[in-house]
Amino acid sequence: MKEAIHPNYTQTVITCACGATYETGSTKKDVHVEICSSCHPFYTGKQKLIDTGGRVDKFNKRFGINNK
Ligand SMILES: [Zn+2]
Repeated sequence: MKEAIHPNYTQTVITCACGATYETGSTKKDVHVEICSSCHPFYTGKQKLIDTGGRVDKFNKRFGINNK
């Protein structure tokens, strides 16, 4: 096993358009998203945004938010 073959997986901060931030592990840095679990109507109960493409699901799966 050589460490060089692995991606550079480090802690990073995801910033949402609503102002929420998440610290998580990622190969990317300074990730910005338009929607997250804090501002999605499914979680907030407010109908201020419409999730047209399952963006929150993709976001959560990608960054493992549901695993907490
Ligand atoms: Zn948000």
